[in-house]
Amino acid sequence: MSPASPSQNLGIYIHFPFCAYKCGYCDFNSWVEETEEPQKIWLEALKKELLFWKARGLDDFQIDTLFMGGGTPSLLKEKYFYELEAFLKKNLTFSPTLEWTVEANPETIHSTLLETFENIGVNRLSIGIQSFQEKYLRRLERGATPHSNKRALSCVAENWKGRWSLDLMFGLPEQNFQDWESDLNEALSFGSKHISAYQLTLSTEKSKNWKQPVEEELLKYFRFTREVLGARGLIPYEISNFAIPSEESRHNLKYWRAEPFLALGPGAYSLLPSRLINQSLDQSDEGFGAHLKNPSKMSDWQKHVENPLSFGRIEKRDVKIHITELLLVGLRLEKGIEMKLFPKNFDFGFLNGLNDLLEKTDTHIRATEKGREILDTTILKSVQSLK
Ligand code: SF4
Repeated sequence: MSPASPSQNLGIYIHFPFCAYKCGYCDFNSWVEETEEPQKIWLEALKKELLFWKARGLDDFQIDTLFMGGGTPSLLKEKYFYELEAFLKKNLTFSPTLEWTVEANPETIHSTLLETFENIGVNRLSIGIQSFQEKYLRRLERGATPHSNKRALSCVAENWKGRWSLDLMFGLPEQNFQDWESDLNEALSFGSKHISAYQLTLSTEKSKNWKQPVEEELLKYFRFTREVLGARGLIPYEISNFAIPSEESRHNLKYWRAEPFLALGPGAYSLLPSRLINQSLDQSDEGFGAHLKNPSKMSDWQKHVENPLSFGRIEKRDVKIHITELLLVGLRLEKGIEMKLFPKNFDFGFLNGLNDLLEKTDTHIRATEKGREILDTTILKSVQSLK
């Protein structure tokens, strides 16, 4: 059995579940907690979870992307960021080109935090702005104000040498077109090279009665966003993500290519490479890996980290699951899915009837312009039925 190549790349996601407030639309696994003790407990459990995977063969992989999401990871005390850095560097092999992203809420951003990030090797920020306007921030129950959003971005523009991205939202209750245009222009005025523009999803009890623009209106917002950001050189590379070339999120691209990644933290969801589950496999026998869903509750997750393979919900993936997932995530990419990722002799029969919505080139299968506009409502539903 040949040993696995340590140069094989793997991404790691770390979930930090705490926030300073709960936004009205948020259905992420996050809850309000600002005291220090839970952070300490979280960090200790996270270390145990990582050590479990290290003993299972994580050393065979080189970590090329690390993404801390939440929650609000920028709430983590600076001393714990340093502790985390030392622990990760001791126990992981980082690629020389590691992309380390941390999600940050504007209220938490200040020059000392940015200095800490720089010191420990964080080189990309993802900043949750959502809107620059008071009425929408209040409606969404964000803790930020227009002033704190602008102050944070000015601080980043002045002090941060790494890459950064910001999130905006459209489809907000009672939103009008001028306000959205103004948010886009405000974001661009800070020199952002990566913008995620998400359509608000009304999935919480609180938000389900909010009045959102109707479908055709939302489509106009979608087209307009592509037009405005495209004109400023921010190319749509995924349905909601726009970047100047080379500024794309390398970590998120792994999700959209259905590549394996290890996710740590309460409620985190991994797509594990087969070798972390079955240590006797060598690199040529990679298979399709498995999904592992961590328990969401902190106390359950603390038990889970003792032996994630016994406590967690693990589901092996076969070729059919892999292809379905590849289509579900890969069609979100502007370039689509590389044909070489499909098995030889793969039957593309499901494309019949979707002729003007999907197109096949020599190298890729991707959504047409028309297809992109009804990706979630039509195409992805028909792909899901393949399951
Ligand atoms: S800050 Fe982010 S994770 Fe926290 S409640 Fe708001 S949307 Fe959810």
